[in-house]
Amino acid sequence: MLTIGVLALQGAVKEHLDHLNALPQIRGVAVKKAADLAPVAGLILPGGESTAMGKLLREFLLSRAILDRIQEGMPVWGTCAGMILLARTIAGQETGYLGVMDICVRRNAYGSQLDSFSTEALIPAVSAAPVPLVFIRAPYVEEAGADVTVLAKVDGHIVAVEQDHMLATAFHPELTDDLSFHRYFAAKAAAWNVLKTNL
Ligand code: GLN
Repeated sequence: MLTIGVLALQGAVKEHLDHLNALPQIRGVAVKKAADLAPVAGLILPGGESTAMGKLLREFLLSRAILDRIQEGMPVWGTCAGMILLARTIAGQETGYLGVMDICVRRNAYGSQLDSFSTEALIPAVSAAPVPLVFIRAPYVEEAGADVTVLAKVDGHIVAVEQDHMLATAFHPELTDDLSFHRYFAAKAAAWNVLKTNL
C-alpha cells in the first residue's frame, strides 16, 4: 500500500480521499499536523479558500514541514486554491504562501459572471481520453517560468502545470468521476517512494 496525504485544514478534502482510496494499492490519509506527513509519499493541497488555508497553514505550523518535504522531492499536487498556495506569485497580492512553483496565478480569474463551469480537454500526459474539468471560482496561470511544463490550456489560459515533482490544476478532478489525475499523481508518488527508499 502507498500512502498519499490530503491537507485537511479546509476545503474539498473528502472528495480527494475518496478518489485516492478508489485506486488500487493507494491509501488516502488526512494531514492536519506535521506528524501526519511522516508516512506520506505525496501530498494533495485541495481546493477551498486559499486565504483561509494559508492562514491555517501558518497557525498549525505546517508550512515549514510541507516545504521541507517538497524540497526533499515529495510529489505535491495543488487543485484550485491548492494551486494558489504553490504559486510563487499571486497577481495583485504582495506575498504568496508556499511559493514553490515558478508560476504567477490570478485568483478568481474568470470573474463572477463565470463563477463555475465545466468543460473537457485532452491532456495526453495524463489520459488517452478527454478529461472532464470542473472550475469553481478558479484561478488560472498568467505566467509560467521556463522550468514549468504546461499540461493544459482552456480558452488560451493555462489551467494545468507541472514543474519537476509539483503539479497544479486550476480545476477539480476530485469533483468528477474521472480518476485519471489521481492515478497520474499516484504514479509520481510511487516513483518517489521507490527513489527515497533507495537513497
Ligand atoms: N477562489 C478560491 C481562492 O481564491 C479558490 C476556489 C477553489 O478552490 N475552488 O482561494
